[in-house]
Amino acid sequence: MGVRTPGELVERGLATPAQAGALAPVVDRYRMQVDDYYLGLIDPDDPDDPIRRQALPDVAELVESAGELRDPIGDSVHAAAPQLVHRYRDRVLFFPTFLCPMYCRYCFRKVALNEAPVRLDDVLSGAVAYVAAHPEVREVILSGGDPLLLSDDRLDRVLGAFGALPNVERLRIHSRVPVTRPSRVDAGLVATLARHRPLFVVTHFNHPRELTPVAEAGVRALVDAGITVLNQAVLLRGVNADAETLAALFGGLLRWQVRPYYLHHLDMTVGTQHFRVSLRDGLSLVRSLRGRLSGLAWPTYVLDIPGGGGKVPVDSDFVRAEPQRGVYTLVGPQGGRWRYVDPAEHPAGFEGHPPGAERLP
Ligand SMILES: *Cc1c(COP(=O)(O)O)cnc(C)c1O
Repeated sequence: MGVRTPGELVERGLATPAQAGALAPVVDRYRMQVDDYYLGLIDPDDPDDPIRRQALPDVAELVESAGELRDPIGDSVHAAAPQLVHRYRDRVLFFPTFLCPMYCRYCFRKVALNEAPVRLDDVLSGAVAYVAAHPEVREVILSGGDPLLLSDDRLDRVLGAFGALPNVERLRIHSRVPVTRPSRVDAGLVATLARHRPLFVVTHFNHPRELTPVAEAGVRALVDAGITVLNQAVLLRGVNADAETLAALFGGLLRWQVRPYYLHHLDMTVGTQHFRVSLRDGLSLVRSLRGRLSGLAWPTYVLDIPGGGGKVPVDSDFVRAEPQRGVYTLVGPQGGRWRYVDPAEHPAGFEGHPPGAERLP
């Protein structure tokens, strides 16, 4: 069931008719879908509820701010075959679907997800052939869209096809299904995944209120099946950008034996300005957690250089603060240098430089 239209939000008491009217152009541009399960986590009396902000559309998404991009991390720049991205030498991303159980409002692929659907049968053999022809590729990462929306049989076929290649040493799945539709993580899915170890599942819990008993059952089943489960979160204003929330999230994940892997700085996706935290605030938040959390609980805070430069740890020499507030020099993981003007500090740019990353000579 769930909701897919603003009218259904009114029926659920999650929007007034006037609000629903204003949201119509938002969901025309960026689709909405939320299951009953995830809707049930929303506090309907709190207009600023952190669960609501991730799931339900906001008219702020219609605002396109300076420097925002339709393809913020440069997937298309590094597309190597249909639905396959090869940016780092030893690993590729493959998108078996662009469907998700829920469309996160801050998603960095929110434009791609609203373009043509992926037909797995049209792209799988080409992707497998590409990996076979590139022996330097050691790891295949299924992303999307949400790969765990595939049926068990199709997932088995995709993992089997890549896993059978002699150069592929490990498989990885990036999925928000354990968070947004945990009932999908059933015995059949877990058994399917367990056949393809070594397999790493990277989930995407952003807030401790997503750590429910149903989600726990799914995650524990994955762990019990010998799958390594990691988590990536995105630092989001109005959702989790405070030390108490992040500490509760990371501590809760460790109780399930899930290792916090990455905390992502928000990408420069169109229509996401209302979620933005400055790099400066993100860094001081993460540093404040170091003193109180086990190293096991501490993720790497990463920035994906806008335009396709690659992911870099923020608290490192890859990200150098310049004397001017909110201006940085970035060093790419595979070379290259960029000037970065923080859109959260300089929404209109700085001394003629637009917000975002500009490649330096
Ligand atoms: C994020 C990403 C990866 C995975 O990077 P890790 O640092 O290994 O988690 C791989 N390929 C692309 C294109 C990516 O964007």
